[in-house]
Amino acid sequence: MAVLLDGKSLKEKITDDLAKKLAKMDAKPCLAVILVGDNPASKVYVGHKKRTCEKIGIKSLTYELEADVSEESLLELISKLNNDKNVNGILLQLPLPEHIDEHKALMAIEPIKDVDGFHPVNMGRLVIGNGDFISCTPKGIISLLEEYDIDLSGKRATVIGRSNIVGKPVSLLLTAKDATVSLAHSKTRDLKELCRNSDILVVAIGREKFLTADYVKEGAVVIDVGINRGADGKLYGDVDFDLVKEKAAYISPVPGGVGPMTIASLMENVLIAYDLQNGKRVSDE
Ligand code: NAD
Repeated sequence: MAVLLDGKSLKEKITDDLAKKLAKMDAKPCLAVILVGDNPASKVYVGHKKRTCEKIGIKSLTYELEADVSEESLLELISKLNNDKNVNGILLQLPLPEHIDEHKALMAIEPIKDVDGFHPVNMGRLVIGNGDFISCTPKGIISLLEEYDIDLSGKRATVIGRSNIVGKPVSLLLTAKDATVSLAHSKTRDLKELCRNSDILVVAIGREKFLTADYVKEGAVVIDVGINRGADGKLYGDVDFDLVKEKAAYISPVPGGVGPMTIASLMENVLIAYDLQNGKRVSDE
């Protein structure tokens, strides 16, 4: 039976430490969250982020825009927040309605306030290995692996899913940790064989219980990023947890694994933004 990679507890530990730092600071960092439309999942995520900010002492502002807001109005709001010295981080909750160009909107956020790490400047820095803002889910996955002292050096890792927000950045971070990484996707041939030869599996595709036990090598580390709402209304990952946990050495559950780590990493990134905008790591003082 695998060891559970408990993201919920690690999130508490990280955010408790941040709360202690924040309590010593005179000024409070501020995160602005923009939510466009009424996607129910996005509302839930924004709610979690806001509550964690409040709990640890980060100021948060939420801008809820109608689904039919014009691209121009959204860009105006982003520009206003870019120029507001009291706002340290800007998070644009995805997905956006189809009439808004997502790339254009993300490009509009000043890289120094881009706490999600989605701006091409921050993505580029990640590629060359000196990024300030690492996108929250990939960063959270690495923190989880580090917490459990999982050695990645020389290990074979397969990441399934090549999205800009999870698959691609996580493959870069694993590479930086000296793993030998395959980035698999919907056109990958012989995926099962690739997975069976991997020591680490990161699954980020958005298909309930896709990764069954026959994809998993005995003793592998399995990170489940997927969030899928089952027919019974409960949340399920991309991994068939009950059977895979019998074969893996470590496994992250859904919920309670990668999800909370995404929020913990966001809080860390807001502090980094605050420090950078104040010319140094003042929160470390
Ligand atoms: P996405 O939806 O943008 O893309 C899915 C990826 O999976 C694509 O690259 C596609 O090629 C690949 N894929 C689809 N079917 C496949 C198959 N049969 N075999 C191999 N690859 C296949 O991806 P995303 O935005 O990274 O989201 C993936 C999942 O992770 C979703 O369930 C999402 O809700 C979840 N997610 C969770 C968090 C978190 O904080 N826990 C954060 C982001 C995304």
